[in-house]
Amino acid sequence: MLYVFFFGHWLASVFFQSLFQHRYAAHRMYTMKPRVERGLHLLTYLVQGPSYLSPRGYAILHRQHHAFSDTERDPHSPRFFRNALQMMLHTKRRYDAYAYRREEPEARFAGGYPEWKLIDQTLGQSWAVRVGWGALYAVPYFFLATHWWQWALLPMQWVLGPIHGAIVNWYGHRYGYRSFDNGDGSRNTLPLDVVTMGELFQNNHHKYPMSPDFAARWFEIDPTWQIMRLLARMGLIEIATPQRATYPSPVAAASY
Ligand SMILES: [Zn+2]
Ligand SMILES: [Zn+2]
Repeated sequence: MLYVFFFGHWLASVFFQSLFQHRYAAHRMYTMKPRVERGLHLLTYLVQGPSYLSPRGYAILHRQHHAFSDTERDPHSPRFFRNALQMMLHTKRRYDAYAYRREEPEARFAGGYPEWKLIDQTLGQSWAVRVGWGALYAVPYFFLATHWWQWALLPMQWVLGPIHGAIVNWYGHRYGYRSFDNGDGSRNTLPLDVVTMGELFQNNHHKYPMSPDFAARWFEIDPTWQIMRLLARMGLIEIATPQRATYPSPVAAASY
């Protein structure tokens, strides 16, 4: 049961990152009514808890990643770091600069993402609240852990967001196969990516940055896209960009 809690939280956390921070805030691949957007924003915070990433910080950094993929201006290219930890510490500094508004980005990377002060700053950036989440995650361990070493999973749950970021940005730009020559290090790491809900199709995603389906070949399956199709059929979201859309990520001036 402890593993169900851990892996359920793992999958839910990376799913909301892919659906909300990545495909909606950074890329605006779909639209939804303001009330649905608020609901999804809140749900994302509740699922990601102590490692919640503000849509603003995520979107600015991610648009820079697409614009400068695997060059020196890429905020997280594995080419310039000895290991994933070093890369993520650098990424955190860049993320903090935008999430905490210490720096303003170039105008082309700003805007078009949802902002909610209570969630993104008051709760999401409070250490007292983060520690509260961390303590809450410990409760199931008291009841479900059957061996002491299982407690090692608990601190991982505190930092699931950065762990997912490290996996996607390190492996997705280093290991796997290439279907397209994008002039960068992007790879497709797994043909059926259930580990990060489709995020490891980096090679496809850099080729078609606005395609809501990260799979591109017949044997590839992108789980988050499959769920998006379901949400669209239920009328909760409306897909805004076609599959295999190659144009770059939208910015403040974009009209959709
Ligand atoms: Zn990438
Ligand atoms: Zn992207």
